[in-house]
Amino acid sequence: MLESLKTGTSFAALDAVISGETKITRRRGRAFMKYRHIFGPVASHRLGRSLGIDLIPYKTCSYNCVYCECGETTMQTIERSTFIPEDEVMNELRSFLSTSPELDSVTFAGSGEPTLSLSIGNVIAMVKEEFPAYTISVLTNGSLLSRPDVRSELLAADRVIPTLTSAKQETFEAIHRPHPSLSIEDIIKGMEEFRREYHGEIWLEVFIIPEINTTDEELALLRDAISRIDPDRVQLNTLDRPAPESWVKAASSSELNRIWDLLGRERVEMINLSPAGTQSAIVMGEEKEMISAMLSRRPSTIEDIITLTGMSGGEVAKILRDLEKAREIRSYRGARGTFYSSTLPDEAKPKPE
Ligand code: SF4
Repeated sequence: MLESLKTGTSFAALDAVISGETKITRRRGRAFMKYRHIFGPVASHRLGRSLGIDLIPYKTCSYNCVYCECGETTMQTIERSTFIPEDEVMNELRSFLSTSPELDSVTFAGSGEPTLSLSIGNVIAMVKEEFPAYTISVLTNGSLLSRPDVRSELLAADRVIPTLTSAKQETFEAIHRPHPSLSIEDIIKGMEEFRREYHGEIWLEVFIIPEINTTDEELALLRDAISRIDPDRVQLNTLDRPAPESWVKAASSSELNRIWDLLGRERVEMINLSPAGTQSAIVMGEEKEMISAMLSRRPSTIEDIITLTGMSGGEVAKILRDLEKAREIRSYRGARGTFYSSTLPDEAKPKPE
């Protein structure tokens, strides 16, 4: 089915997908199988060749970050839950990993906060037990690290990558628009506690937004918080695509260099500085072409694409990011949120909603 959905081919089939009449079965290697909870592998700046695991329904998160590449949070919560049957995820992982794919990381990521899932500890344990050769990474916003149960479930991972943007509650709220019960001081204390308990690597991501968390006061507080958390690495990041909020800008390289000096070059590194397009998916070519073809027919939101394709939010977000960096699509705000549309010549552009 998917073969017929490539750009420029069988638009009748494509329209069937767009109208929701047809569900898509994606091809992985020689076997046809529908994966709903794993995606990639993708080429990640930080992690190399990474297989994504998405345990969370689209945009279920404790934060609603102004820079989130997945768009607005639709379910903001700090309640942990079993969102999807564990068996489904484990069976997909068994099916994929039993082919011994070459991977640098099996990564809990996606379109929400993975530690909200009550399954994360069991899925980590399963991969460690059945596929011990693989390195497990967890991308988390860190908001639940103040909870002993969450810290305990992450202990078996090889690498945990939490985010910290500010040690000031006011700035934390401005950037992350968090669940009202969350306090940045409690989160930093949770990260400190995790450092004491955990023997794997902690890579702390510091996301920079010019004029928001770049004042001398902000950076001094951040530096203190980093010392308390004592991560193995600190990785500076900034926006590399249009944000959902238009006032959010990328930091310039000179600003990043200033912050790099202030936070200490010895253990801070820059990420996200490679040229556009170098972070392209490795084996998501078919899915990428399908989404590209969909967007050349009709502008769509990320939710539209997830609903129509059955793909995970994390996978769709990754592909949209790649297409946007390669300037094959563009995004704009519409009545239902952020729309993506192909960058066709004017006369061939689809009509926006
Ligand atoms: S924590 Fe991650 S998924 Fe949640 S809103 Fe922020 S960037 Fe998006």
